Amino acid sequence: MLGLVKKIFGDANEREVKRLTRTVEEINGLESKISPLSDEELRNKTEEFKARLEKGEDIDSILPEAFAVVREASKRTLGMRHFDVQLMGGMVLHEGKIAEMRTGEGKTLVATLPTYLNALQGKGVHVITVNDYLASRDSQIMSELYNFLGLTVGCNLHGLTHEEKQEAYACDITYGTNNEFGFDYLRDNMVLYKEQMVQRPLYYAIIDEVDSILVDEARTPLIISGQAQKSTELYFAADRFVSRLKEQEDYTVDIKLRNVTLTEAGVEKAEKAFSIENLFDHANVTLNHHVQQALKAHVIMRRDVDYVVNEDEVVIVDEFTGRLMAGRRYSDGLHQAIEAKEQLKVQNESMTLATITFQNYFRMYRKLSGMTGTAKTEEEEFKRIYGLEVIQIPTNRSLIRKDMQDVVYKSEKGKFKAVVEQIVESHSKNQPVLVGTISIENSELLSEMLKKRGVAHKVLNAKFHAEEAEIISRAGQAGSVTIATNMAGRGTDILLGEGVADLGGLHIIGTERHESRRIDNQLRGRAGRQGDPGSSQFYLSLEDELMRRFGAENIMGMMDRLGLEEDQPIESRLITRAVESAQKRVEGSNFDTRKVVLQYDDVMNQQREVIYKQRRDVLFSDNIREIVMEMIVPVIQHVVEAHTEGDIPEEWDLQEITEFMNSNLLPEDSLSKDDLWGKEKEDMIEFIKDKVVAYYDEREAELGAETMREFEKVVVLRAVDSKWMDHIDAMDQLRQGIHLRAYGGTDPLREYQFEGFEMFKEMIYSIQEEVARYIMKARVESNLERQEVAQGQTTTNSPAEAEKRPAKREERTGRNDLCPCGSGKKYKMCHGMGK
Ligand code: ADP
Ligand code: MG
Repeated sequence: MLGLVKKIFGDANEREVKRLTRTVEEINGLESKISPLSDEELRNKTEEFKARLEKGEDIDSILPEAFAVVREASKRTLGMRHFDVQLMGGMVLHEGKIAEMRTGEGKTLVATLPTYLNALQGKGVHVITVNDYLASRDSQIMSELYNFLGLTVGCNLHGLTHEEKQEAYACDITYGTNNEFGFDYLRDNMVLYKEQMVQRPLYYAIIDEVDSILVDEARTPLIISGQAQKSTELYFAADRFVSRLKEQEDYTVDIKLRNVTLTEAGVEKAEKAFSIENLFDHANVTLNHHVQQALKAHVIMRRDVDYVVNEDEVVIVDEFTGRLMAGRRYSDGLHQAIEAKEQLKVQNESMTLATITFQNYFRMYRKLSGMTGTAKTEEEEFKRIYGLEVIQIPTNRSLIRKDMQDVVYKSEKGKFKAVVEQIVESHSKNQPVLVGTISIENSELLSEMLKKRGVAHKVLNAKFHAEEAEIISRAGQAGSVTIATNMAGRGTDILLGEGVADLGGLHIIGTERHESRRIDNQLRGRAGRQGDPGSSQFYLSLEDELMRRFGAENIMGMMDRLGLEEDQPIESRLITRAVESAQKRVEGSNFDTRKVVLQYDDVMNQQREVIYKQRRDVLFSDNIREIVMEMIVPVIQHVVEAHTEGDIPEEWDLQEITEFMNSNLLPEDSLSKDDLWGKEKEDMIEFIKDKVVAYYDEREAELGAETMREFEKVVVLRAVDSKWMDHIDAMDQLRQGIHLRAYGGTDPLREYQFEGFEMFKEMIYSIQEEVARYIMKARVESNLERQEVAQGQTTTNSPAEAEKRPAKREERTGRNDLCPCGSGKKYKMCHGMGK
């Protein structure tokens, strides 16, 4: 059926390729005009293009000539002339799509075309690869070409200083890894001064190995976690202190707002108890907060009403339904305060400070594109999640690799024996063999078996990128045997050694099918580059993970019917097809998992955008008094409205309003009940607001405008950061616990969205309240230093993932270490130099 449709309408991909071919011809036609130019004239083209763009010429109309210029510059600097298919790939990338191009087709060089073209706009182009080694390698090689054309290139390696990063980002073109770009984004939204930001607005990105980054890594978000400046002990100390206090004398309770406020006497007692001078000093922010929450835990929160203690854990009770809200924690340290009150273990000292998924990071680029050898199988996901189309680019030379039928054994033992036999056989003919395994464990098992047979070989396990690249680049030499996990040495070209083509080229052995067909295709793709001969074959057993999960019984039955022995293999299309359909099912379910991760992150994403925007506004404006006033007004409104419910003014609680204002926003005793008596709600709010503004003016006059401006920023940044970090953490807890609440068929995602939004609103209010209180009440002199709420360290959230690739997550290049580019020079003398 599908075949018929294709015949009638023509293959869509074919049509695209035809369309691209027309432009290729145009570019080829320009060669006779561009080639005779002197180096100088060629270089001047860059300025000419920039000027044309500035005058409003469309970037697409410059494309053919710009590509022709890059091709010519590449011939002169790198000695490589872009193949026609590479021009096609370059166009696809420029159009914001994914170019599927096989291994060895020269994607690194392809990227130079759209990179140059888009860099002409001066907004920065990011070329993103999977590890620092590749980023260094590619930027180093290609900068020769870019520099020749007058563009600057930076490399955003892990561990660079602020200044070095800023320089790298300020370049026309910046190479780096997905992790580093993502973490920089998060860190930029934690800085205290705008001068500390390193990134410019995200403009255009080209992602190499795009499937690996946008699909495989999409399940593990980037996380900056750290120790908040809270210690467990302080919760207990605060708890002991508040249990000695007396109502009315030391604190007053606002039942309606569920608020407790220390009186002057209470504040004095606290200052004495903790031997401090002023509870409202910036040095005492944490203590003040702990005391507040301990007070709330004691006075407001009732055991078995608001919460229960269940197996040594404090579990929240939903106030409307009475059901237990497993997994949810009160935010803002209240949960910990209750734990202290109940003499339980105070939990959660390490917390998430900032987090984002790759999906949401990359969707922020104005234009996104990617390239890989294997994208078609995940076409739907690219389309739906990122709006990225996949275009398959024909190979430069036709592919002649022989992909052989899978062979299947009953047992794993039988399989590995056969694999070793095959290796020994190829090795005896001197044909190079590359064996792919799914795990480091299997690599080592095979290695042991080969040692026993006396076959010399190399093992790679995705730990040291530079060293690995070195080894794998020799995997095509006569007689070499290389064992590698799927991840190992990717991005490295395997050239065939002398005479190897006559032996049949590189032979690839897969020892297990991966969950995803894409990864299997990656392995196969290691052979047969640029029209080289080569072959590939997968060895499977019914004991393999994938087979056990899907359809092993069917196949077992089939094997029994055929009457096969333990180590007798079976090669059958039926089995290959069964395996493929199992893979498709797993791919589908993995896609679903990633969709869920994304749906959850989307909730956070909207909130993150709101907070980050607010933060930037604060950092970038010279005067945020307006912003601060906009935060104080809702607090006044909220308090007034809460105590003026109903239509009978006599029943309004003016005392509470007066008390709140006097102790939080105005000088002691400056507001009295009589001031409010007889006023409408709105008038009351206006009246209080005017008084607050007047007091604000007074404080400002006393301190000087300049000091006040800095004070405002300190207070707002601290409030936003600490509340936001608490919030992220609370959302995290909520999400982990939400599935435990599968009752009555509620949709956990809906629950999460709903509760997450409620929590967000609560957080916004608590930011406003904190800002209001500090701006109006705190001693300014001790609140003039911007400070980080917490020191973060970067990780991803999956320990399994981190374990698989420890080097990648923890790599940190010291200035005296060897440069990750593999030059053998010290880092500071090589890529770390003057960048
Ligand atoms: P891919 O990333 O597509 O697997 P690479 O970018 O690693 O491929 O390039 C593979 C090899 O092909 C590299 O050694 C590169 O120098 C070479 N190469 C790429 N394009 C050309 C070209 N147009 N002419 C000659 N060699 C090329
Ligand atoms: Mg590559």
